[in-house]
Amino acid sequence: MSAATFDVEDPATLDVVGQVPDLGVEDATAAVDRAAAAFPGWAATAPRHRSDVLRRAYELMLRDRDELAALIASENGKSLTDAAAEVGYAAEFFRWFSEEAVRPGGDYGVAPAGGVRTLVSARPVGVAALVTPWNFPAAMATRKIGPALAAGCTVVLKPAAETPLTALAIARLLTEAGVPDGVVEVVTTTDAPGVVSTWLADPRVRKVSFTGSTGVGRTLLRQAADRVVNASMELGGNAPVVVTEDADLDAAVAGTLVAKFRNGGQACTAANRIYVHRDVMADFLARFGAAVEKLRVGTAADGAEIGPLITAAAADRVRRVIDRAVEDGARISHQAALPEAPGHFVAPTVLADVAPEAAILRDEIFGPVAPIVAWDDEEALLDLVNDTEYGLAAYVFAGELGRAIRLGERIEAGMIGLNRGIVSDPSAPFGGVKQSGLGREGARDGLREFQETQYLSVDWPEA
Ligand code: NAD
Repeated sequence: MSAATFDVEDPATLDVVGQVPDLGVEDATAAVDRAAAAFPGWAATAPRHRSDVLRRAYELMLRDRDELAALIASENGKSLTDAAAEVGYAAEFFRWFSEEAVRPGGDYGVAPAGGVRTLVSARPVGVAALVTPWNFPAAMATRKIGPALAAGCTVVLKPAAETPLTALAIARLLTEAGVPDGVVEVVTTTDAPGVVSTWLADPRVRKVSFTGSTGVGRTLLRQAADRVVNASMELGGNAPVVVTEDADLDAAVAGTLVAKFRNGGQACTAANRIYVHRDVMADFLARFGAAVEKLRVGTAADGAEIGPLITAAAADRVRRVIDRAVEDGARISHQAALPEAPGHFVAPTVLADVAPEAAILRDEIFGPVAPIVAWDDEEALLDLVNDTEYGLAAYVFAGELGRAIRLGERIEAGMIGLNRGIVSDPSAPFGGVKQSGLGREGARDGLREFQETQYLSVDWPEA
């Protein structure tokens, strides 16, 4: 193993909170050596055994909830409330997939002509390469490790360089839960392209599951094509919020606040453009803006609700997005106060009078900025909502549930929150359409992503 290390920084305080090995391509291959050696043994364990191990991992995560939340907050900067919620959400993937592990699937059939029998089984796809982002360092890891281990796969995981500590802590808990050596290999590195392309070129790696930006997802899909590697992609989003004139405005304001500001806006499901019916615009803007002004921004240690952005570069980018929107005619209607702390803070900002064609509505903001657009006509609204390459999440707030459902069904997105600002749930199929991704995580579908179908065609002697 190479001796180099890199520092992990708290983006709220700029303190160094840890140091991890900076592994290279040789270490990446050595990790696959161990995962490939462990695969036959792990795949051969009884589903109930894998289920029990994942269940223990769930319990251990809850046992260590406070420590894990503090660790996430220290390397990611999110509030302790958000971090504790993430630990709960992340642990639920181990519980859910411990329950799914004992239902691997399979079938028995009689060929139409009679005689031949078909035995269909779901088998683990093999060594899986997992690549995760920094915004949910625990949940994005468990959402992949849970189903992979349930299916009988072994994994090599590359966490984001900004947040490697949480992944290492989860790996330690998995060992404590009974996961054998080699089944979960974590490779921390600042050379993401080198490590991941080494894995994708390795014939022993049969699967890549990636969560991150659409741009990097495209690169990995191209690399996966060379060896026709089975690929699951959870990519970027550009989630619209629709508020109709008959919506319950209290619910719409509360739901939009969560959809926009959870994780400081650094979520793939974050509300990115907020379309409010003109008849209720003034009321919505006043109430939403007042709530945004009250948001407490600062460090997790100070009990803040909103943390910093992940890096100085990310904060600069979001400040430029605000400036550009103002140049394009938007108005800063409300803003929260900034803290004294030295970190990469950007004030939660509401932008009113945003034009429907403004640049800010086209790309993921990935920060605490809420652009608000007025609408009058439902057909024109749906054209705007669907005029994007992305299709991950969307939110509709409408007074009549039937109208909310009708609108939801016409929005091109994999997940729609109706009268609520959160769609994530381990038992539901998480994923996007269009350039937001391929495949689903969670639910039953998440297990299928780590399985291959095989059938045995059996010559059946007639009696
Ligand atoms: P990113 O694409 O920059 O990085 C994601 C991961 O890929 C990291 O581990 C990174 O080190 C690695 N990586 C970067 N370049 C690489 C390369 N050339 N080859 C191989 N690996 C590479 O994304 P990010 O900034 O960490 O995360 C934010 C993005 O993730 C946003 O676009 C967000 O929408 C998306 N996201 C999507 C989901 C989802 O489920 N759809 C969930 C969370 C985040």
